[in-house]
Amino acid sequence: MGKLKIGVLALQGDFEAHCKALERVSVQSSEIRTATDLEDLAGLILPGGESTTMLKLLERERLFEPLKQFGRWKPIFGTCAGAILLSREVVHPAQPSLGLMDLTIERNGYGRQIDSQVARIEVGNKTAEAVFIRAPIIRRVGSNVNVLATLDAAPVLVEEGKHLAATFHPELSGSERIHRYFAEKVQHQITCGASLH
Ligand code: GLN
Repeated sequence: MGKLKIGVLALQGDFEAHCKALERVSVQSSEIRTATDLEDLAGLILPGGESTTMLKLLERERLFEPLKQFGRWKPIFGTCAGAILLSREVVHPAQPSLGLMDLTIERNGYGRQIDSQVARIEVGNKTAEAVFIRAPIIRRVGSNVNVLATLDAAPVLVEEGKHLAATFHPELSGSERIHRYFAEKVQHQITCGASLH
């Protein structure tokens, strides 16, 4: 993917697996811990982890507003806790979020009994393995949201314009398809952004 550089928020959670997945699709990755780290990125991944802890760390590092601004212009891919951060509305319990995607998302939506599961989902006419860990459930999608995959009728992979969100962990499945797809979205954003036509 040429000189594309995609950052991975590295305050908490499984950011290293995302960096490795990006490297496998020949994208340069960069661990992001401060607002200045965002400067030369073409896109950003918000990893899974614990969204409440991430929120506290975002406040402490004064990264909440810079991330919101970043997302106005550049693509963000949120996985699991990252998808929670991207959503407009978080329930169970309610908590602040960046509000960059028109989604209502319920934390730990599968309950405590099902802590984690590996499911087969259909993505673009191909089956894919999806790893769910204390996953949220997307309860509502706005009219501009495109649902790319579902599990038991609930959306699990969605996009809205330049942003992408998964309630599972594509970085743990051994397939880079979804990271490649995000990298293509980032590339597309650059190409369109640069065009004067
Ligand atoms: N349950 C976590 C939360 O609510 C998300 C879990 C994950 O990212 N794997 O933030």
